[in-house]
Amino acid sequence: MDEDLVARAMRHYAEACTASGHALSGSVDTQCRCGTVAARLEEDRDLRIKAQIFDVQRSRVQAAVNAEEQPDASWTFSALVRLVVDELPDPFQGFDRPFKRIVFLTSALARIAESGVSIDAIVRIGLRHRFKRSAAILASAMLPGISLTGSRNSIPDRTLAWADLLDRCIAESDPGDVVDNVAETESLGDALFERIRKARIGLFADKVAGWLERAPIIDIVSWRYTDLADRSKISEDDLNFPGGQEAVAWLLDRFSLTHYSDWQRTSLYWELRYANNPESTAIEAGVPLSVLRQRPAHVGTVVDAVVTRGSSPLDHENLLGNLTFDQLSSHVLESLKNGRAQQTSELLREITRKYPTLAEARSMFGFALIPVLPDEALDVIGRCLADPENVNVELLRINKASALWRLRRSAEALVVVEGLHVTGFDDDLWLWKPEDLESASESEDFEPGSFNAQEWIAQALKILKGDVAQ
Ligand SMILES: [Zn+2]
Repeated sequence: MDEDLVARAMRHYAEACTASGHALSGSVDTQCRCGTVAARLEEDRDLRIKAQIFDVQRSRVQAAVNAEEQPDASWTFSALVRLVVDELPDPFQGFDRPFKRIVFLTSALARIAESGVSIDAIVRIGLRHRFKRSAAILASAMLPGISLTGSRNSIPDRTLAWADLLDRCIAESDPGDVVDNVAETESLGDALFERIRKARIGLFADKVAGWLERAPIIDIVSWRYTDLADRSKISEDDLNFPGGQEAVAWLLDRFSLTHYSDWQRTSLYWELRYANNPESTAIEAGVPLSVLRQRPAHVGTVVDAVVTRGSSPLDHENLLGNLTFDQLSSHVLESLKNGRAQQTSELLREITRKYPTLAEARSMFGFALIPVLPDEALDVIGRCLADPENVNVELLRINKASALWRLRRSAEALVVVEGLHVTGFDDDLWLWKPEDLESASESEDFEPGSFNAQEWIAQALKILKGDVAQ
């Protein structure tokens, strides 16, 4: 890159200049600045490289090579923040292992507090919007008369408490509006959207805000709802974050998101101030400099990001009426894990009708259809494969093979699987299990599993080759 070339050129020049007794610069004494300028350019180049290779996800992975290792002193601030941001506002994370969830999150929060950052500010201010969205989804997971996450008996009490709260809030603000049986009046998708919409506004949203302001942190970690109207809320002063909400958002952005393009706009301005003047910005924000120093910042790189953002008006933060795509995905996955492929695919059908350009939702729709209507799944997956918006072609091909397999077209499925090139896949994928595709009959018997792509392919090849040989 140009900066590197400039730094190298300046270093050569400084050496030549020094050898000439600084005659090259026209200086006759030792006041020549050639060496100083060369050093400054090299320093700038090194900082730019450090800033550019900083990777939140890598630091998170390095912190916990083993998923059973809980946060300790070896974790970077970034790894701690990433864990908290990913898991705390998502009630479905650790749904099946609530004790582990509490141990991990409370120890991560304790480490953050030890570094001198207010966890009240992070949890109650920084994650407020995520909590409000998640609460709306959690409370909507139980529609009156129908559930997307299994029967009422299989849902933990703490989830039911949110659904019941939403029912009470809807009844209180609009007594004529209680619908007993969704299926009679609306489609499942419309009913869910309507319920989430009601949960995002009015009384329920106020209750969630009040809970987040007042509840003990341990209740927030375990998503335990209790009405705390008489308990005093934690004041902004107690939060001890002089930079206010925008500074909290900046801290979370810079330690949970690698790419500036994913940050909030105001966070970029805070970053620019910090890159220019770390010490005074740390004081203004109220974050220890030792914490901020864990992520290098380079002025030129931040300026580039600000300029790029200025010319792109699209912020993809809010999709589907404040339901973000990640939240939709986790909702869909929970439903599929509970054997609700039928209902989930109907929901995704509605969503793809409402938002036909959402390539990822269409891809999920194709996946959910495989156990239920594999013929239609093949159609949908085929359309996804023809859409240039879809980057994850190999995942779509695995799903195509799964649909063919479900249709008992084993020979064709085998051809697709044999043609897969998945060397680039690092992340695990949610896929239908080969043994289910081979032998499950009812769609309720299907359960998605988390697979390494190579591992899935090896299992699939083994079974499919046996089928075809028969
Ligand atoms: Zn010189």
